[in-house]
Amino acid sequence: MSILSGKKILLIISGGIAAYKSLDLIRRIRERDASVQVILTNSAIQFITPLSVATLSGEPVLGDLFDLTRESEIGHIELSRSADIILVAPATANLIAKMAHGLADDLATTTLLATDTPVIVAPAMNVRMWEHPATQRNLSTLKSDGIELVGPDKGTMACNEYGMGRLSEPLEMIAALEKHFEARKSSSVLDGKHVLITAGPTHEPIDPVRYLANKSSGKQGYALARAARDAGARVTLITGPVALDEPENIKTVRVTTAEEMLQATLHALPADIAIFAAAVADWRVANSSDDKIKKQANGKIPVMEFIENPDIAKTVGHHKNRPALVIGFAAETRDLKSSARLKLQKKGADLIVANDVSPSTGIMGGDHNRVSLVTANGIEDWDQMDKTRVASLLIARFADMLESKNA
Ligand code: C5P
Repeated sequence: MSILSGKKILLIISGGIAAYKSLDLIRRIRERDASVQVILTNSAIQFITPLSVATLSGEPVLGDLFDLTRESEIGHIELSRSADIILVAPATANLIAKMAHGLADDLATTTLLATDTPVIVAPAMNVRMWEHPATQRNLSTLKSDGIELVGPDKGTMACNEYGMGRLSEPLEMIAALEKHFEARKSSSVLDGKHVLITAGPTHEPIDPVRYLANKSSGKQGYALARAARDAGARVTLITGPVALDEPENIKTVRVTTAEEMLQATLHALPADIAIFAAAVADWRVANSSDDKIKKQANGKIPVMEFIENPDIAKTVGHHKNRPALVIGFAAETRDLKSSARLKLQKKGADLIVANDVSPSTGIMGGDHNRVSLVTANGIEDWDQMDKTRVASLLIARFADMLESKNA
């Protein structure tokens, strides 16, 4: 059952070619047993008809031109307060500007100004309008007012230009709604628990200026850290070198090499859950040099010798202070599931999150992930989702597993 079941969603549709996607969105919301009340702005009616919206939503449509009676019956204040969430999709540059400045000159903007219900905005506009400093300024205002944003996506526009500004797909908007309610629901499932997470790559020195690295961005590990924090846990994030901002309210320990990551991890024990999301280098250079290696005049090429790095997950999986739950990752380009099953045993883990990191998947360094959960009981394949959503669903799963272990 979807977390949206039984929720009341107020959908504000403003004018734009992307408004047609909102018809599918309404269908998707209702498939999840949520109710959807729609307000159409006057310009939205140029793109979609009130009749199709009313038919799909199963509710009378509200708007300035055609619902004065209902407005006098319930009023815009009641309208916004009876909803669990307001979603504005598509939100044009004009509507975003009005929201940022508190203008209220129609039913949609009056409702938005009168509400204390959470609001999610899904912008859609031409790329130049999106990039315009005025729009960006207005979006920052909305964000600092606590309004959540979903999208826009990059792609070809109806006007044949390419860039940021496409309305998110209906399922992405559904995911944003679900994430919103999940974050509120699960805000205490890990109360009082300590969650340790490794993230990012490690850098193994060749000499003082050169190193061995990999393409891990740290995004999935950081998203897990934020999701665990949002679920009420005390989080220690042990991170290799990444280009991400330090998350708020999370103890973040920055390390460079696998050996440093191991020491920081052991130092952070005990923990209730340990999640090994880092892409730790399997080897380091045995004969790394204290001085920068110079080019040889005789053209001789330096030879590197490797030694194996400590396996952090395996060490913790067999440690006397082993956390109740040990989670590993398996990033492979082939034999994904059989390797994951082997890792489950080798590392002494309760669960392995397996993902295919072949370059064609765009997962390494990208914003999406498609994972399979491998446990002693079998394999569960998840659909592709953005890494934040993967993180919140994984954390909810780990919380359940921890509860049944402790029961
Ligand atoms: O053995 P492999 O590197 O494929 O295993 C991947 C899993 O083990 C990941 O969870 C990774 O974070 C962890 N790992 C580790 N220390 C290593 C190598 C991998 O913690 N040296």
